[in-house]
Amino acid sequence: MIHLNELMEVKTQNPCPVCGEHLYYIFYEAKIAYEEEISIETYFCKNCLYKSNKLSSQVGKEPKKITVLIENREDLRIIIYRSANGKLLIPEFGAEISPGLESYGEITTVEAVLEKFLEKIDFIGKDEENPEIFFEVREKILKNLKGEVSPFSVIIEDPSGKSRINSSKAVESSLEN
Ligand SMILES: [Zn+2]
Repeated sequence: MIHLNELMEVKTQNPCPVCGEHLYYIFYEAKIAYEEEISIETYFCKNCLYKSNKLSSQVGKEPKKITVLIENREDLRIIIYRSANGKLLIPEFGAEISPGLESYGEITTVEAVLEKFLEKIDFIGKDEENPEIFFEVREKILKNLKGEVSPFSVIIEDPSGKSRINSSKAVESSLEN
């Protein structure tokens, strides 16, 4: 008996290794009776049904901080799972996305985080006292979204330790640092 706690799905820019179509990334937490809680990550191709699974244990996770340096266009496609307790930061842009009221996390990509942040600052509007900073940050984000990437870091601070950044470049450390 398997209980699925969460189910999220996102269309990625990553091509299917078999047919080249866009892969879908699916993430969920599952509770297997008498077993521990696990997370299941799946890359799935809706075209040829190619599937790749990764299981990992969710038990005994320590508070952690995950950092990844975004250096090029490819890195914009890195998939991020921010748990319900994870705070996402991009210090270079003064961006901070705090855990919301939702009891679930979100799956996103670096690119989507930038788009979301851009929407947010456009909504808030420019700070009358520091209009240059507003335009400067806006400009930087737009350049990155166009693929002219100037290195910046994406950080997740997560007391529950459940968040993850799907990249071999991601570095994990304890939250206290
Ligand atoms: Zn395929």
